[in-house]
Amino acid sequence: MSETREAEPLSPRPSQWGPSCPKCQAPSRFTTSILDLKNDRPVQIYRCDRCREEIWN
Ligand SMILES: [Zn+2]
Repeated sequence: MSETREAEPLSPRPSQWGPSCPKCQAPSRFTTSILDLKNDRPVQIYRCDRCREEIWN
């Protein structure tokens, strides 16, 4: 009955990590944000840490 937990490698900071990769389920890392001129809103671009897949959010 221990509540002690090791530091989890998959507990990232929300500001730097994106959604899980649809291909390999690895966490993605925030790359940059651009302005979508069609919708006039910012789009965050993440890149999978494992397979380098780009994920647009
Ligand atoms: Zn991936």
